[in-house]
Amino acid sequence: MFSRLIGNDVTKLTLRRLIHQDRLPNSLLFIGPDGVGKKQFAIETARTLFCRQRVGDEACGVCSSCVRTGTFSPPTSEKKDDYKRIHFSENPDLGFVVPFKRNILVDAIRVLELEANFNPYEAPARVFIVDDADLMNDAAANALLKTLEEPPVTTHIILVTSRPDVLLPTIHSRCQKIHFAPVERKAIEKYLIEERAFSHDEARLAAGVAHGSIGRAVEIDVGEYRGMRERAVRVLRSALIDGDRAALLKISEELNDAKNADNFEANLGVLESVVRDVWRLACGVETAKLLDPEMADTYLRFAEQAAAARFAEWLGEIEDLRKALSVNINKKVATDSLFLTMAAGKR
Ligand SMILES: [Zn+2]
Repeated sequence: MFSRLIGNDVTKLTLRRLIHQDRLPNSLLFIGPDGVGKKQFAIETARTLFCRQRVGDEACGVCSSCVRTGTFSPPTSEKKDDYKRIHFSENPDLGFVVPFKRNILVDAIRVLELEANFNPYEAPARVFIVDDADLMNDAAANALLKTLEEPPVTTHIILVTSRPDVLLPTIHSRCQKIHFAPVERKAIEKYLIEERAFSHDEARLAAGVAHGSIGRAVEIDVGEYRGMRERAVRVLRSALIDGDRAALLKISEELNDAKNADNFEANLGVLESVVRDVWRLACGVETAKLLDPEMADTYLRFAEQAAAARFAEWLGEIEDLRKALSVNINKKVATDSLFLTMAAGKR
């Protein structure tokens, strides 16, 4: 049921109304940040369309159609050929295009084109979900254009993406766009406590640093996060207060040793969250509005050490390092350089 999904209440209302009034467009593009539940909304759209005994404008959630529509096991095969087709949920009217190694294969889109023309098996409509639609190359996208332009009346194609700028303008122009926003922190917090057995403290921290992504929030291991945060705090203390370059180089070594290498990006993300909070305090934001309010006292001390502009520069440097990770850089050298730049403004 839409009411069970977290956040994006306006979008929820829009979709329910469109389905209820029988006006759901046949080509849809769901746009929004990662981890806010776009794919869940797409599945719920199919479920509501298919449900045999809707309750108001909601799927009942218990009829055979509802149960089967919501049951989908993504393929785990390593064989390319297995991704040249549509994967169906237990309801043969809901199909998914699944990427192979971060590529949506043109063959899968060709099969989608065929399938889109078939009548529904049992439901009043068929729905095809292309998650991470930005993983279509031009050939795949072009193969989809015709179907998007004139889909059969009983077929709905839902493209889902967090990188809409990567999609061809011709895809955009053929779809009705449905926008998703980051999920409110309070809603994530409530979900973590009620559905994921987080303690209040843990939920507050995870919801704060998840930047509106439920997907990210549920994956945060709070104990591990606090460990990474402790290290990030040492970086700021050494750079801002002690001016201790040797200590910084030692932390850089730690981050890049065999034990921590796999967590390099996660550590960088935590450092970024910490600097972001300090920067916000330096800009005059109230402590209650921090991503991580439990650290307010420590962060206030840091914020007093420099102007907001310096912390903004650090955020830029961290972002540059993050981008550089996609090419094969020497992480140790890059981390040394980041930390020494952070210490350089020390008066
Ligand atoms: Zn139902």
